[in-house]
Amino acid sequence: RRHLKLLLIGNAGVGKSALMNQYVNSRFSNHYRATIGADFFTKEVRVDEKLVTVQIWDTAGTERFQSLGAALYRGTACCLLVFDVTSPNSFQSLETWHKEFLVQAEPADPDTFPFVVIANKTDLDERQVSPRHAQEWCSVYRAEYFEASAKEAFNVDEAFLCAIRLGLKN
Ligand code: GDP
Ligand code: MG
Repeated sequence: RRHLKLLLIGNAGVGKSALMNQYVNSRFSNHYRATIGADFFTKEVRVDEKLVTVQIWDTAGTERFQSLGAALYRGTACCLLVFDVTSPNSFQSLETWHKEFLVQAEPADPDTFPFVVIANKTDLDERQVSPRHAQEWCSVYRAEYFEASAKEAFNVDEAFLCAIRLGLKN
């Protein structure tokens, strides 16, 4: 059985915990609870005939780009970068999170390390980051792109499944 570590990073409030809760427990809450430090959850999944134990690390981003510690980053098979489509600032921050990840995780080959970008909260009307703009960023950084809503359980399983597949290949 394979063990796989996934890591969710992005600014505070973008919905990292909500995405994880939706993926692991099929639940959503409007109530905001700041994540303290880092937390992980495991889920057993069958992907392409393989049984995989996925360990998903959810992080606190209450302070922008605080160094979360190399131990948290190391051993990650695929990194999920999350932003909120109603927050241009959270989108602009992807660049710094991406860089922070590579510096801390020190993957064997930074050029081919897999990233999945999740554009979250697409259920809201106050959208401020266009899909085209976000996709452009992803093509420059060779990241997979998913529009999602943790609230409506839209594309959440799909984004995690993609991350697992990429992680297994990595
Ligand atoms: P984190 O700091 O990145 O872990 O963000 P949270 O998961 O705690 O979410 C922050 C707030 O955004 C909470 O009030 C959530 O209920 C809300 N939220 C998260 N995902 C969504 C979503 O897809 N749609 C909407 N409308 N709200 C969301
Ligand atoms: Mg959180």
